[in-house]
Amino acid sequence: MEKGQKEQRIAQLVQELLELIGDNPQRTGLQDTPKRVARMYAEIYRGYNPAQKPNITTFPNGEDGIVYDSMVVDTGDFYSCCEHHMMPFFGKYYFAYLPHPKGKILGISKIGRVVDYCAAKLQVQERLTHEVVEMLGDALGGEYPPLGIALVMRGEHLCKTMRGARKKGEMVSSCLTGLFQTDSALRAEFMNLINQMK
Ligand SMILES: [Zn+2]
Repeated sequence: MEKGQKEQRIAQLVQELLELIGDNPQRTGLQDTPKRVARMYAEIYRGYNPAQKPNITTFPNGEDGIVYDSMVVDTGDFYSCCEHHMMPFFGKYYFAYLPHPKGKILGISKIGRVVDYCAAKLQVQERLTHEVVEMLGDALGGEYPPLGIALVMRGEHLCKTMRGARKKGEMVSSCLTGLFQTDSALRAEFMNLINQMK
């Protein structure tokens, strides 16, 4: 289905949904809502479109005269939607990797872009965590892959916070590879660091 057609069809369905939940789609405040939601979906669900996949630039380690051989950490926000309720879950991510001295270095802005892309579809937090590590791991891969990758995500799930027990629906997920899995001192260093960033 062509893009315009798809947006029109989504708008029709949202209009029907508004009626079914008991509202009046003709009232002033709701008149443009179906179209607005359809346009928003194209953005927040762009992760289904492989053409939107970010280009992950990497540099040879040592290119700028410094060989990076200690942990590189990046943190930021993420926003996604849970696949069980189509409700937002969002929070902070903490990413780290240990570059191989002969391997590659990530352009730091790329980490956030990959998180955003993987989050822009219906997800569960555990799978989102794994997908980000996989995509960044692939980009850093090759003859000298990184010595380890770690990602921790802390998210609040509105489907839990807003309903049921109305407890704050917080969740932590993690994915660790290489030395982050096998070297407990390195793992502790990373965990200490991100606990200070809370
Ligand atoms: Zn949910």
